[in-house]
Amino acid sequence: MAIRKIVTMGDDILRKQSREVKEINERILVLLDDMVETLRENNGAGLAAPQVGVLKQVVVIDVGEGLIELINPVITHSEGAVVEAEGCLSIPGKWANVERPERVTVEALGRDGKKLTITGEGMLARALCHEIDHLHGVLYVDKMLGFIEEEDEE
Ligand code: ZN
Repeated sequence: MAIRKIVTMGDDILRKQSREVKEINERILVLLDDMVETLRENNGAGLAAPQVGVLKQVVVIDVGEGLIELINPVITHSEGAVVEAEGCLSIPGKWANVERPERVTVEALGRDGKKLTITGEGMLARALCHEIDHLHGVLYVDKMLGFIEEEDEE
């Protein structure tokens, strides 16, 4: 496993469409392993393959409810709306309020190639939407209500 370099906003790759994974081969498994290690190293809640410079539909998420690895994820259902603070490893040191669905259902493939369905609420719903957006060249800044100003410490 290896920690990969995270691409930051301004790099064109973050604005490109990622390709569907046709075959889950050794390269994809190594990519997943590296993405998990990179996520942990950076204390992130989620990471999408374009953020490590790979235009493939692969994401990893860990919002404290266990690791989730998704290949070719698609949102099949969403409901509700919640505005909460959100950050991104590709936009370091910034936070913004973003409206996201309260609950989403996602269909994807797991690393074993089997179909899986995940329903997430709150933080997990937010992370699923955020990471799947990355696969389509969308960043939270496209949807945000404004950056949250850092408050000076007293
Ligand atoms: Zn992000």
